[in-house]
Amino acid sequence: MIQATQLKRGMCIKHENELYRVVEAQHKTPGNLRGLVQARIRNLKNGAISEHRFRSVDMVERAILDETEMEFLYQDGDMYHFMNNETFEQIALSDEVLGDAVPYLIPNIKLKIEMYEGRPVGIELPLTVEMRVVETEPAIKGASVSNVGKPAKMETGLVVQVPAFISEGERISAGWVEVITGSMFSGKSEELIRRIRRAQIARQKVQIFKPRVDDRYAADHIVSHSEMQMPSQVVRSAREILDTLEKGTEVVGIDEGQFFDLSLVEVVNTLADRGVRVIVAGLDQDYMGRPFEPMPQLLAVAEYVDKTLAICMRCGAPANRSQRLVAATDRVVVGGAAHYEARCRRCFHPGIERSEE
Ligand SMILES: [Zn+2]
Repeated sequence: MIQATQLKRGMCIKHENELYRVVEAQHKTPGNLRGLVQARIRNLKNGAISEHRFRSVDMVERAILDETEMEFLYQDGDMYHFMNNETFEQIALSDEVLGDAVPYLIPNIKLKIEMYEGRPVGIELPLTVEMRVVETEPAIKGASVSNVGKPAKMETGLVVQVPAFISEGERISAGWVEVITGSMFSGKSEELIRRIRRAQIARQKVQIFKPRVDDRYAADHIVSHSEMQMPSQVVRSAREILDTLEKGTEVVGIDEGQFFDLSLVEVVNTLADRGVRVIVAGLDQDYMGRPFEPMPQLLAVAEYVDKTLAICMRCGAPANRSQRLVAATDRVVVGGAAHYEARCRRCFHPGIERSEE
């Protein structure tokens, strides 16, 4: 048993007879009140995330999981047989335990199986699962349009969206990265929402994230300036996207990418390597016209990039810069839209607007 104040991210605990992994734990000592630990925990059985408040004095049962690497051998009815390559011990797991990993089980794939008191409680797939396409429409020659995917059936029966140029017989890992970027008022969030809607219509499981810094409009929605909106999860860091990812999520949308730090690049790559389609929207330049990290790095690793243009508020030309209208040297001015204007290259003044007119 440990005291609640010792809870840390990544720990496993047994709580109300279920196993959980701690996603985040914050120790709070508000004024003269009793201290408490606000924790976000993920149920290992069903992947659901919940919030729980422990008192600082509460004792929590820590669960130590054994992680064993196993190789998938064969399927026999509902049972899947694995072998430990060091001890040659074999185990059989039901599809109930394997859950969403089943469609990724190609012969000889190695995965990590987490055991608790001799019982398998979770499995972890390798980052990349490469599979052969067995059925898809013919490849479209010269296809370069970013958001046009097509369904493809993989050797395990899994159906995923793949880029238009993929043919039958090719081996692919199913994920990829799309970036939608441009100035303010260029319709980035609308385009993100539009792509997410299409994925939802195709009955794909979608999760949308945005960083905590952006407080405008609704706190738990992504909202475009033209007031389209969609529920989203607010995260404090890019890492939290991985921690909050639910089982079976096929498409991840991320808004306001420029407000994350560089670790977003690694997170986005990890997701795509796992087979997730990742769509990131964000500003490509700051108020000085400088590349706004981590967007340049994302542009580099993305399979597909779309630049959206606004209309210059001065001359009506296509605009790709965000003119700041208030005096502030912070890179981020919260309160957003009212303090900016879309400008073209010629009408843009880096930094604060000079009032010479
Ligand atoms: Zn202009």
